[in-house]
Amino acid sequence: MIRPTLSFLTPYPALKQLYTLLNEPPFSTRFVGGCVRDSLLNREVTDVDMATTALPTAVLERLQNHGIKTLKHGLEHGTVTAVLENKQPIEITTLRKDIKTDGRHAVVAFTEEWAVDAARRDFTMNALYADDTGKIYDPLGTGITDAQQGIVRFIGDPEARIKEDALRILRYFRFLPVYHHGENPVEEDALTACEKLAPMIARLSGERIQQEMLKLLAMPRPLPALRLMQQTGVLDYVLDKAVVPDLSDTSLLAKLQKTAHPHSPMMVHLWALLGGSEQAIERITRRWKLPRSLSRYLYVLYDTYPLEIALQDAPTRWRLMDAHDYTTLYDIITLYCAAHTLGDTPLHKTLLEEAFNSRLLKFPLSGKDLKAIGITEGIAIGEALRAARQAWVESGFTLGREALLEGDY
Ligand code: ATP
Ligand code: MG
Repeated sequence: MIRPTLSFLTPYPALKQLYTLLNEPPFSTRFVGGCVRDSLLNREVTDVDMATTALPTAVLERLQNHGIKTLKHGLEHGTVTAVLENKQPIEITTLRKDIKTDGRHAVVAFTEEWAVDAARRDFTMNALYADDTGKIYDPLGTGITDAQQGIVRFIGDPEARIKEDALRILRYFRFLPVYHHGENPVEEDALTACEKLAPMIARLSGERIQQEMLKLLAMPRPLPALRLMQQTGVLDYVLDKAVVPDLSDTSLLAKLQKTAHPHSPMMVHLWALLGGSEQAIERITRRWKLPRSLSRYLYVLYDTYPLEIALQDAPTRWRLMDAHDYTTLYDIITLYCAAHTLGDTPLHKTLLEEAFNSRLLKFPLSGKDLKAIGITEGIAIGEALRAARQAWVESGFTLGREALLEGDY
């Protein structure tokens, strides 16, 4: 029997309590999907999903009785989301069978059989379940070995499964580079089915495309998956022909992949995929229904496009340090260094260090200080503060409070 440590349980007593609560008779509940697969493979677990024999109404009742916050947007498909104290959303889905599918939506029927629930999932390694002791259940029988041997295998006939839900094409390419080992040939019929049915992607909702693509772009090395998507014609439909990305060995994406990026590289990868084109940003924002915050961030990167600004120029860096937080500076510097083939050089390191230290910079004046020296009108205070701040930035943050108050700049 395989019993890996479910390391994701240890730091979250609330998660263990949630499991216990939902596993009390007459219901039976197990962890499912990525968290089990990744525990088995000793990979970091990013999100936790659960499967349960309890009907959604019963799940809701138990959670609400225990004061656990719930979200109900997936109720129609049997999913209740529990929001734990650390704000981590846990999706709890009742065992189900998809009885009618049209490539996008499914009509579902609930079941009490784990094997029936397993069969409606996408890949064998994603149809694994575990209890809180780490015991793994593999109702289809090949999930554990496929995961361990590195074979991303559709459950059933790839073409039939993609016709039920075209999102599985994107999921296939997202899992392949991470979970498929080089020595195993990629199944021809799966690739052929993805290529043949790629036009179905056009009918998928923006939110679903966004979710899978952002997970793919958050990987340190998304290029192999993207290239395969380009070769099979899938990428055309994902990008809505807004852009034909450069995925060559000399592309920005290839250079970024060679640069260490301890923070999430998701946004710089997306930016590079879109080729830094304003039109592409606009169209993908609409097609993928990107949240405003992400879309705005792409425009920030656009405004500081690394080929247009000279990061070797100190005053330019000071202005950026004043305008952006460390995460943004990190991405700007990473893009700049990759674009100029300076990734992981001493200059790259120095720039990052300087940006990191800039977190501690604090503009030494406030409106109060100006009032104290007799500037009382609101607009005048605003203007004086702006001018003082500009002088402070231009001095490389060296002008102190006294000098700024004297206004001798
Ligand atoms: P990750 O670690 O990236 O979250 P995951 O496998 O957990 O990977 P999720 O999107 O969280 O992916 O989905 C949870 C589980 O739900 C999957 O493991 C799979 O069993 C099932 N699933 C998700 N999307 C589909 C789909 N389109 N078709 C069939 N099963 C799916
Ligand atoms: Mg998951």
